[in-house]
Formats: sequence, C-alpha cells, structure tokens
Amino acid sequence: MRAPPPPADPALVAAQYEAAPGIERLRELKESFAAGSPETVLAILDEAARFADDHLIALNDVGDAQGCRIVDGRVHTPPGHREAWAAFVEGGWPTLDLPEAEGGQGLPTALAFAVQELLDRACPAFGMIPVPTRSAARLIAAFADEAIRVEWMPRLASGEWTASICISEVDAGSDVMRMRTRAEPTGDGRWAITGEKQWISFGDHDLAPRIGHCLLARTAGSEGLSLFLVPDHTDGQRNAIVVRRIEEKMGLHASPTCALGFEGATGWLIGEEGRGLQQMFVMITNMRLATGAQGLGIAAAAAATALNYAADRKQGGRGPQPVPIDTHADVQRMLLDMTARVEILRGLVLATANQSDLAAHETDAEARADAAALAQWLLPIVKTTGGDFSFEVASSAIQVLGGAGYTREWPVEQGLRDARVLTIFEGTTGIQGLDLLHRRVRRGDGRGLACFLAAGRMAASAIPEGAALGRTLDLLEEAATALKAEEDMVAADAGATALLRLAQLAATGWIAARLAALPEDTPVHRRLVAAGRHWLAGLAPRATLAHAEALAGRAIVAGFDALHAER
Ligand SMILES: Cc1cc2nc3c(=O)[nH]c(=O)nc-3n(C[C@H](O)[C@H](O)[C@H](O)COP(=O)(O)OP(=O)(O)OC[C@H]3O[C@@H](n4cnc5c(N)ncnc54)[C@H](O)[C@@H]3O)c2cc1C
Repeated sequence: MRAPPPPADPALVAAQYEAAPGIERLRELKESFAAGSPETVLAILDEAARFADDHLIALNDVGDAQGCRIVDGRVHTPPGHREAWAAFVEGGWPTLDLPEAEGGQGLPTALAFAVQELLDRACPAFGMIPVPTRSAARLIAAFADEAIRVEWMPRLASGEWTASICISEVDAGSDVMRMRTRAEPTGDGRWAITGEKQWISFGDHDLAPRIGHCLLARTAGSEGLSLFLVPDHTDGQRNAIVVRRIEEKMGLHASPTCALGFEGATGWLIGEEGRGLQQMFVMITNMRLATGAQGLGIAAAAAATALNYAADRKQGGRGPQPVPIDTHADVQRMLLDMTARVEILRGLVLATANQSDLAAHETDAEARADAAALAQWLLPIVKTTGGDFSFEVASSAIQVLGGAGYTREWPVEQGLRDARVLTIFEGTTGIQGLDLLHRRVRRGDGRGLACFLAAGRMAASAIPEGAALGRTLDLLEEAATALKAEEDMVAADAGATALLRLAQLAATGWIAARLAALPEDTPVHRRLVAAGRHWLAGLAPRATLAHAEALAGRAIVAGFDALHAER
C-alpha cells in the first residue's frame, strides 16, 4: 500500500468551524443547532476522523487500483466498500444535517460538510455515495407527496437506501434542455421512463438494496422538464433499467460513472410537471457545495503530505550535510500557498453552508432574503474554487515531492487525477461563470453581490492588511457594473469566467481577511493567521489581471477565426 496522507487534524477543522461567519447566529436560532456546541463539534469531528482512518484510508488505494466492474448486469464496488458503507450507515453519519422530523439529527449543514471534508480527505470516491443521497433527501422532503416521503425519507436519511442525480445525456451535458429522455403516464399514477442517461455517479452499485434515481425527463404535457423518482427496484422486482457500461476515467475509479438505459422504467412524478429543473436545484445546490468540500478534502490531504515530506526530505544547503527541503525559500513559498488555499477553501465551504442555513432559519424575512442571496452568490464561487484549488494544491504537492510525487508510491498523483473532474461535473467552470454573470449580475436584483461586498468591506476594514481586499472588492464591483451594462453579448460572455475569477479572489480574500484577524493565541490560530496574510499579500495583482480580462470584451476572442484555416 502507498503511504497514506498524514492523519487529519480535527482541531484545525473545528477552529475554522467556530470562526466561520454565521455560526454564532445559527446557534441562537435553533435548539438543535445550539446542541452542536464547540465541544460536541470537536467530538463529532474526532469521531469522523477516526472513522475515516479505520474504514476509508485503505479503500482509497484499493479503489483507485481496482475500480468498479459489472457482474451479471450489476455494478460491483471494489473490496471493502460494502463494509465501509455499512459501518457508515450504522454510525448514523448520513443523518447529521437532515431535519429531525425527517429522521435526521438537525445539526447545521456546515457540520455535515466539515465531516464530508474528512471523508473526502481519506477517500474522495467514497465521499460521492452520501452526497447525492443526502441531497436527494432534501429534494424529496421539499417536493415529494406524502406516500413517497413516508417510504423514502427515513431510508435515505439513514443511508439504508441511496440515490443518484440523473440529468446528463450524450447531447445534454451543459445544455440540459436538449435532453431526450421521455416520461409517459401509465394511468395508475406512475410513469414509464424511456431514454439513455450518461455519466451517472453511483448510478448502480452493490452497497444498498435500493437506489432512487432523481431523474429529469420530458413529458408531452409541458415545455419544461419534469422530475421523477425512478427506483432501481419496484414492487420487489428489478426496474427496467440497464447498466450499459461503466466509463473508464482518469480518477475517482471507485466511483462508478454509469451509462444507464431506461427501457420503460417505472417512475413517480415529484412535484409539479414542467418544474423539474427548478426543483432539481435543491439537489444541485447541495451537490455544488459538496464539490467544494470534495476539493477541500483532496487539497487537505495533498498539502499535509507535502508539508511532512518537505520536513523529511534533505537536499541542498551550504554545509557538508544536506538540509530539509522546507528550509528553501521556494519550497516554503509553495507550502504556504498550498496551506493558504486549503484553509481559505475550508472557510468558504463553511461560510456558504452557514448562509444556506440562515436563509432557512433567520426569523426576519429581510435577513432570510439577504442570507439566501449571499449563499446564491457564493455557490458558483465555492464550487469552482473546490475544483481549482484541489488541482493546484495536488499539482504543487507533486512539485514539492519532486520525482517521488510523480510516482504511484505516493498518493498525490491520485489527488491530481481525482481533482481534475471537479471543474467539470456539477456544471463546468464556464457554465458557473455564465451563471454568475447572467443570473446573479445581469438579471438579478444585485442583492447577493451587495451583501457580499458589505461583508467583505467589513472584514477588510478590520485588519491592517485589508487594503488588498478593499481594492479587490472595488474591482469586482466595477467589473460587475460594467458587464451588467454591456450590450454586446459576445463581449459580456467573453468576460464571464474572468468575472468569476475576480469574484473568487474577492471571496477568498474575504475569508483570508477573517483568518488574518484571528488572535495568534494557539498554534492552530497562528497557522490560520499565516494562511490569511499570505493569501492577502498576493491578492491585488491577481485581481487587477482578472478585472482587465473580465472587461477586455471581444478582444479576448479576436484571434479565434484564425484557428481554423478552412473557415
Ligand atoms: C466523473 C463524472 C461524473 C458525473 N456524474 C454525473 C451525475 O452523477 N449525474 C449527471 O447527471 N451527470 C454527471 N456527470 C456529467 C457532468 O455533469 C457533465 O459532464 C457536465 O455537466 C458537462 O457536460 P459535458 O461533459 O457534456 O460538456 P459540454 O457541455 O460538452 O462542455 C464542454 C465545454 O464546452 C463549454 N460549454 C458548453 N456549453 C457552453 C455554453 N453555452 N457557453 C460557454 N461554454 C460552454 C463547457 O464549459 C466545457 O468547457 C458526470 C461527469 C463526469 C465526468
């Protein structure tokens, strides 16, 4: 077995949990949130880290090497996964943040994501089982009728049954509206689902006796897409769903990415016909946040591996003996950058989760609307940052390990492979940029940006190093205003991803400023302060570049026609 990453430090995660914006207010708002006291949170995180060590670390290796396979038409997960999932369910882990009335423990969403980081740190492929299941539970709780709720909610909440998100098709990736899967009523309250779904994570497996596919399809009665629950078993029989194949892919080998054929499969309409995509956003929102947490887990493992390796590995120095490589300024630079990315991404995931809980639980309607707008503003940013930072940190970790990092003897090359898809699934970075530009900046009422700017400016004014953040926030506001007014749609779209980058720099700067403001009273806080200051030191030049790119308009794509000589 390869060297596993160093053990996680739950105290570090807990410190960030306590520092995340919104947590104090949440504890005031709800008894079950207050029950998540600092001591309880640390105890839960300690226990989660132990679970990850005992059950998941070894799976990461086996899963990567062996992947999943199809036996007699069903997906078999690699050795150890069934036992690990059974232990996960037995331990009550899937229930953390679901409401008590639905069989959950009613703890804050942020705590579930803090735990998720520890799972993903140990084995990011395994972490992809609970996420769609928990997200589907939220969807069912929000829209399903009584009979389905009663049947599915307790089982999804406990993890006895699992769920998948079933949207993509060959011709409907980013362009969801081109989907062709059809649903026809069968006259008995059920629907027959026919079509081919592509790239469905854990679309089939041997971990649970029942899988509920949360599936979008077309109906004759509506222009819009409709949402269906399509179980892999109905009335005690296998439903008409065929696993066509498992995709061969670069990373996340233990997560079976399935092509599924629905051959008149029985399904139940969830919510309103034609409103499926809008409803599905309850699930998508949770899954995008989970992508941030998954990136965080991968990045945290890679950064910790590199930090330890660099303290051991000896090269260079002026004396007769070589010195640890972490005494070299260039290696220190890389390690600080990696640490800063990990800590800031963690802060961003927790902050976004808290805003989504505040949006549901604030007592005042205006405060609820502010929190919802801020959560919506942060969502494409945290999703993209999870993808970007995990890849960059894994890549830097390989650099710090040198030749060893490029070999399979160390886990950081797997981290790089696993991380790569995070900027693709759950909506590519390009689509997140367009979402930010069109839905939040151009068509929106500006509330999310205004709430974010206010929070950012408050954090900037609290510390001496805050000027870099202040400048970044000004640049973001200027770029957003200019792109909102832009009439040339090609020019606006050409700047969308750069606007997202600028918003990402502003959001990471916001978290960095909050970390830099912590008292340097403990080793954990000193690390967080160092991470925050380091990130702020490099912020303004990056923001200036992103601002220029966001506003460069058609100039950015001017040379494109020259790429195809025949056009
Ligand atoms: C490992 C893995 C797991 C997955 N799991 C699931 C799952 O569980 N359920 C599910 O439903 N799907 C899943 N997917 C599918 C995933 O959501 C899609 O791959 C993703 O949405 C992108 O679609 P696409 O691959 O067709 O890329 P395309 O849509 O073809 O995009 C290719 C490129 O073109 C850009 N692009 C496309 N349209 C536009 C536009 N209008 N404007 C600007 N740029 C554009 C994109 O940004 C991207 O860079 C998974 C995919 C993978 C690889």
